[in-house]
Amino acid sequence: MFQAFLIKYAEIAIKGKNRPIFEDALVKQLRRALKPVDGSFHVYKTQGRVHVDTEPGFDYDGAVAAMQKVFGITAICPVLVLEDEGFDVLKQQVCDYLRETYPEQDHTFKVNARRARKNYPIESMEINAKMGEAILEAFPQMRVDVKDPEIMLHIEIREKIYVYSLSIPGAGGMPTGTGGKAMLLLSGGIDSPVAGYMIAKRGVVLNAVYFHAPPYTSERAKQKVVDLARIVSDYAGEIYLHVVNFTEIQKYIYEKCPHDELTIIMRRYMMRIAERIALEHDCLALVTGESIGQVASQTMASLLVTNEVCETLPVFRPLIGFDKEQIVRVSKDIGAFETSILPFEDCCTIWVAKHPVTKPSAKVIRRHEEYLKENIDEMVETAVSGREVIKVG
Ligand code: ATP
Ligand code: MG
Repeated sequence: MFQAFLIKYAEIAIKGKNRPIFEDALVKQLRRALKPVDGSFHVYKTQGRVHVDTEPGFDYDGAVAAMQKVFGITAICPVLVLEDEGFDVLKQQVCDYLRETYPEQDHTFKVNARRARKNYPIESMEINAKMGEAILEAFPQMRVDVKDPEIMLHIEIREKIYVYSLSIPGAGGMPTGTGGKAMLLLSGGIDSPVAGYMIAKRGVVLNAVYFHAPPYTSERAKQKVVDLARIVSDYAGEIYLHVVNFTEIQKYIYEKCPHDELTIIMRRYMMRIAERIALEHDCLALVTGESIGQVASQTMASLLVTNEVCETLPVFRPLIGFDKEQIVRVSKDIGAFETSILPFEDCCTIWVAKHPVTKPSAKVIRRHEEYLKENIDEMVETAVSGREVIKVG
C-alpha cells in the first residue's frame, strides 16, 4: 500500500550548522541499510526532512526492519502517495486507507492538512474540516480529538498528495559517522556487544579488538566474536575487527606473576594493546563492557588499577551502572543474546584464579609487572604487529 517513507529525527541535537552533517550522515546510513533489501529505494533530503521513495513491489517488512536499525531516527512514517484526482476522490482514498490500516475503526483522530501547493483549490483549514466530516460519516465509531488524538492523519498537498498517520519507532541516537571513532574491546560475552551498541548509538564509528588465545580458545570462539561484531555492525556500520593473539603474553604472565593477580595484569595488557591499536587508527576512546562489581576484575579498586595504564585515551564504560538483567534486555533487543550465550570459552575463563584479588593495589601490581620486564615489550610488539584484521559488515 505504501510508496514512500518519511523519516523523522530529533531536531534538538542538530541545530545550526551541524544540521546538514547530521542529515547527510543519516541519508548515507539509510542507503547502506537498504542496500541488501529487495526493491529500489531513493533516499534524499529536502528542507528539514529525509525521505525514502520506493518503486512498487519492494519488501516492505524488510525495508522497515532495516531502517529500524539506523541510528538517528525517532520514527519511520509509511506514506501513501496519491495523484491529485480531485477532493472527492481524495476523501474516498483516505477512508479506504483508514479502513485498511485501522480495522477496529474506533479511534480518536485529527486531520492535519498542509497545502504546500498553493493552487490547490481548498485551504488547509477547510481540508481538515471536510476530511474530518467525511471520516465521521464513513466510520460512526471514530471521534475527533484535537488535543491528543490516537490517529494524527497528515495530508500534504504537493505535486502529489502525501497521506500518513503511522509512526514506527526508530532506533534513536545519532547517525553513525557524526561522532568520531572508538575502539571496542569485544569479547564473546553478553556485555561488550551491548557496550559497543550503546556507544555506536551516539553516532560513533566502531573498531574492535579481540584477544584470542589459541589453542586455549577455539576457532569457534573467534567465529562467535566475528558473528557478534556483525550483529553490532548491522546498526553501527562497517567494523574493523583486530584479532590479537594473546597466548604467549598470557602464558608469560601466568609463569611470572602471582596467580590471584593474573586477571588484573592481563586486563592491563589488553588495555595497553587496545590503546596502541586505537591510536594507530585515529580512535578517540576505548570502550568496554565493564560494570561495577560484576566480577572481581570490575570492582572499583580493580577498575582503577586497569584504568591507569591508558595513557592518552578515555575509557568509556556505558554499562557501568547497569544490572545484568538490564544488559541482557538490551542484548536480546539488538539480537545478540543468542550468539553471546553460545558456550565457547573466551580467553579469560581459562586462566582465572580461584580467588582473584578484588582490591588490587596499583603499587603492588606495578611491582609484579616488573617480573615481566625481560620479554614483555617484545611480546606486545609481536602480538600487535601479527594481528589479523577482519572487516565486518
Ligand atoms: P563480556 O560479557 O563482555 O565478555 P564479562 O562480564 O565477561 O564481559 P570480563 O571478562 O571481565 O567481563 O571483561 C570485561 C570487559 O573486558 C569486556 O566487556 C570486554 O570489553 C573486555 N574483554 C574481556 N575479554 C576480552 C577479550 N578476550 N577480547 C577483547 N576484550 C575483552
Ligand atoms: Mg568476557
